[in-house]
Amino acid sequence: MNSSSPAAFPDPIDSKLISDMLEYGGEAPPTAFASPTCAKCKGNVFTILMNDLEGVAARICAGCDDEHGIGDSDDFVDEVDSVESAICTCGGEQFRIAAGVSLYKESQDVRWFFLACRCEKCELSGVYADWKSESGDLKALLARV
Ligand SMILES: [Zn+2]
Ligand SMILES: [Zn+2]
Repeated sequence: MNSSSPAAFPDPIDSKLISDMLEYGGEAPPTAFASPTCAKCKGNVFTILMNDLEGVAARICAGCDDEHGIGDSDDFVDEVDSVESAICTCGGEQFRIAAGVSLYKESQDVRWFFLACRCEKCELSGVYADWKSESGDLKALLARV
């Protein structure tokens, strides 16, 4: 692969989202994390469309409507029939998000992918999606969050 290295993630990753993912991850907790920023406007609040069963999610920037497939979602999105908006228990649909990945033992191969969101309206956070990832490389995957 010859992709240039991604820009450093400018935002500190929300520690609450990390602890949510660690708790959720159980026996395969995530060990690497990334928090996305819109490539166009640098915004960090998004609405989320996802299909948890298929392991596909996209984020749509609240600032500029730019849409981006999260992680390896773009590789699988053609196989998905429908997506649903992530909605907080308060009805909020805008989130700050972070992703985490767990790895196979003594390897850099990705095992599980986690998506945690914190509601902009009420601050409630939680893991909204997780799926088994077959995309392999840790850095490449996190660069696409
Ligand atoms: Zn944007
Ligand atoms: Zn909320």
